[in-house]
Amino acid sequence: MGRIYTPTANDFGNTDAVVIGGGIVGTATAFWLSKAGLDVVLVEMRDGLSTLTTPASAECFRAQFAEPAMAALAIPSIEMFEHFADVIGIPGYSISIKQQGYPFLTDNPETVNDLKENIDQQHRLGATDSEFLERDEILARFPFLSASVLGATFRQRDGWLSCHELTQGFAKGCDARFFINTKAAGIHMDDKGVCGVDTNRGFLQTRTVVNAAGPFAGEVGKMVNLDLPLEPVRRQKVYIETSVTIPQAAPFTIDVNNNSYWRPEPGGVIIGWVDSDEPVSQPSETVPTDWEFPAITLDKVKRLTPFFEEIEKTVRQPDMTTSAGFYVYTPDDQPLIGPVPEIPGFYINCGYWAGVMLSPEAGKRIADLVIGTLDPRENPLRPTRFKEGLGKKGKTLMSH
Ligand SMILES: Cc1cc2nc3c(=O)[nH]c(=O)nc-3n(C[C@H](O)[C@H](O)[C@H](O)COP(=O)(O)OP(=O)(O)OC[C@H]3O[C@@H](n4cnc5c(N)ncnc54)[C@H](O)[C@@H]3O)c2cc1C
Repeated sequence: MGRIYTPTANDFGNTDAVVIGGGIVGTATAFWLSKAGLDVVLVEMRDGLSTLTTPASAECFRAQFAEPAMAALAIPSIEMFEHFADVIGIPGYSISIKQQGYPFLTDNPETVNDLKENIDQQHRLGATDSEFLERDEILARFPFLSASVLGATFRQRDGWLSCHELTQGFAKGCDARFFINTKAAGIHMDDKGVCGVDTNRGFLQTRTVVNAAGPFAGEVGKMVNLDLPLEPVRRQKVYIETSVTIPQAAPFTIDVNNNSYWRPEPGGVIIGWVDSDEPVSQPSETVPTDWEFPAITLDKVKRLTPFFEEIEKTVRQPDMTTSAGFYVYTPDDQPLIGPVPEIPGFYINCGYWAGVMLSPEAGKRIADLVIGTLDPRENPLRPTRFKEGLGKKGKTLMSH
């Protein structure tokens, strides 16, 4: 069983692989490297796993992608979520998975066709159970939505889960060691490539390092003189405790025309939206929230879900908890996964705006690349793709 602890000097020495960053992406990576038979140490600078961006997420997952490389990560990841206890080998282990569906809704006649085309593409990419819902079907399934809706893409097996349980499950289900309160301060190199990681608590000798430092992945890249094409952008969400009845069986509901979303959460509801004017910023551990964010978001979600008008009238400031973290964008809005050829032994697994839902398969891909069962050229998310003239933005369902 993996151990999560603050190491002492005796815990340092030689190890097969070091993962830098203990969010969901790093933890899933450590899991798969350990399952591949490697002795693995993950270093996390904070006092627990998944305490930075990962807990700020809405914890949702979907197979509905139009970009081939994203679908290729999302679909097998969802299959792992569905059988998570078997994946980690802990019978009965629960990640509180809720497959209540995921409609991308529109009330704009001009976008109906785009959604239909998106469904065709999803089917081509393997999400064969997603469907286009006409207005009557939407209202029959979700009577709490506005009668102005015109269409939606929908997949019943999409949904959400508990990031805490997912992280702990990956950690407990492997033999890696998870060093918390341990900050990577430098990466050593010799003529063969990487040879160790310096931390505030000791030195780890290794020939394999994975950068899974989330919003700080750019800083870790600088430790080996890499300038990674990563742009952290703040994103916020709000939990509202409310006495207004929220249909707890409702799906994760998205309005593609204003990039807002909501889903039920025990005791209330989670709401959020993606502000395309939010600037790129420097990563930080403390991410501020805007006092007006809940009001703006309520205004957006009520457009297609009228019961938010009632919440808007009754909600009080103490009922609302706003949290924030970073989406990390790359030039094609898809993650960077794989080795960096000019620095032997250095791998990256970062550049996520949907890292929770993609983490299981992304971690497995890193392990396959490290042990050599996957040829880097067969990995479309290889970090070298931009230099190769590849890596173009795909058609998305909404701004993200
Ligand atoms: C409002 C919001 C909603 C979101 N909703 C969703 C969603 O519904 N579904 C989804 O899939 N994604 C969602 N996301 C995105 C998702 O949260 C992230 O993509 C994901 O959590 C990234 O995981 P990570 O492990 O890369 O990063 P993190 O969780 O940030 O982990 C990186 C870790 O690296 C550590 N670290 C950094 N530098 C060092 C160092 N030098 N030494 C040691 N440790 C270091 C940090 O302390 C941190 O713990 C959302 C994000 C936000 C902000």
